[in-house]
Amino acid sequence: MRKLTILGATGSIGGSTLAVAAQNPELFEVVALAAGTNCDKMFELCRQWRPKYAVMASESAAATLRHQLNQHHLPTEVLAGVDGMCQVAALDEVDTVMAAIVGAAGLLPTMAAVRAGKRILLANKEALVMSGQLFIDACRASGAELLPVDSEHNAIFQSLPAQVQQSLGHCDLAAHGIRKILLTGSGGPFRYTDVSELATVTPAMAIAHPNWSMGPKISVDSATMMNKGLEYIEARWLFNATREQMDVIIHPQSVIHSMVQYKDGSVLAQMGLPDMRTPIACAMSYPERVDAGVAPLDFSQIGEFTFLQPDFSRYPCLKLAMDACYSGQAATTALNAANEVAVAAFLDHQLTFTDIARVNQQVLELAQMTEPTDLESVIELDRMARILAREVIGKVSL
Ligand code: NAD
Ligand code: MG
Repeated sequence: MRKLTILGATGSIGGSTLAVAAQNPELFEVVALAAGTNCDKMFELCRQWRPKYAVMASESAAATLRHQLNQHHLPTEVLAGVDGMCQVAALDEVDTVMAAIVGAAGLLPTMAAVRAGKRILLANKEALVMSGQLFIDACRASGAELLPVDSEHNAIFQSLPAQVQQSLGHCDLAAHGIRKILLTGSGGPFRYTDVSELATVTPAMAIAHPNWSMGPKISVDSATMMNKGLEYIEARWLFNATREQMDVIIHPQSVIHSMVQYKDGSVLAQMGLPDMRTPIACAMSYPERVDAGVAPLDFSQIGEFTFLQPDFSRYPCLKLAMDACYSGQAATTALNAANEVAVAAFLDHQLTFTDIARVNQQVLELAQMTEPTDLESVIELDRMARILAREVIGKVSL
């Protein structure tokens, strides 16, 4: 039986993780749940799952949850803040940690799980984008097992030979006959919108993803294709890939979730419905397979597969991220931080959709790019880039 901590339990990935656990109650036990500030949702989860620990991001949210639990005589122990998250990520009685907090807030709890040598089910791509080599080195040092949950990286993982699967972060793709990783993306809701109209799209339009149901931040990132850019950086670290070994291709149907091209001409793809329970179940039960509760793919209903080259004038954030990937960890950390601030401002109607890329680019131009050497310097760089982003937004916005 696998014993789980779920970081980001109240979110979209958290919900899908619990759905897979509910589908397979004999295989998974929920020991701890952690989330931001949604006490009502966390209370419901505690009532249903009876975890030993629940963690909320703030003291006030923790106090509210504690009160709700007491009123219903539920014994879950409530912890608060980053320290509480790190504590439940590293519990001795837990072997598997779902890292599904959104954004940079997930970095320290995810790293706590890495340092404790857990099986890490990695959804929180921002943590890896920020800490890159430090994250990979920490996994090697502790023996933590890294399993990608992001659907593309999970698809690539499934299409790789077992020796590569077991050496993520330091694998040698070429030595295993692999020519390229083909990262696919849907192109988001605006792939056919006239580029001149993008400045006027609203947050509601941006978060209405045509294929996937996800949290608001990643939905906006999918519309700008910053999500694919972050995934490009994520893939670079997970698969130890060079620029020549990675391509991005738009596949509007989201049935192929990514592919691996071998030197003999073979291409292996993983396919499925666009439902995160599939990659989550794959990572949770690896190397076994469990029922994810997902309907089988019906090829006769799909009709056709199409592919397009991404157009950087439509998706400038994708280009910024691909360039940042090769300029270094300072650039990827600064870009990630700027993007989080810009996306929040867009969702708050303080920026237009096309300003997101403008803010990101200006922060990359203005930030002091000293390569971070430890987690503290990553966090400091993230903090500085957020300040810069807010300054730039003050100038850009209406
Ligand atoms: P979401 O917004 O639905 O959920 C985010 C979760 O993080 C919530 O539980 C929230 O309470 C928690 N959280 C937010 N701020 C926090 C803080 N300061 N401290 C602790 N917890 C905090 O987001 P999501 O769509 O579930 O995405 C989660 C992560 O998974 C992101 O990194 C995203 O890129 C990645 N991901 C998501 C999907 C998807 O389909 N939703 C797919 C691939 C990768
Ligand atoms: Mg993805």
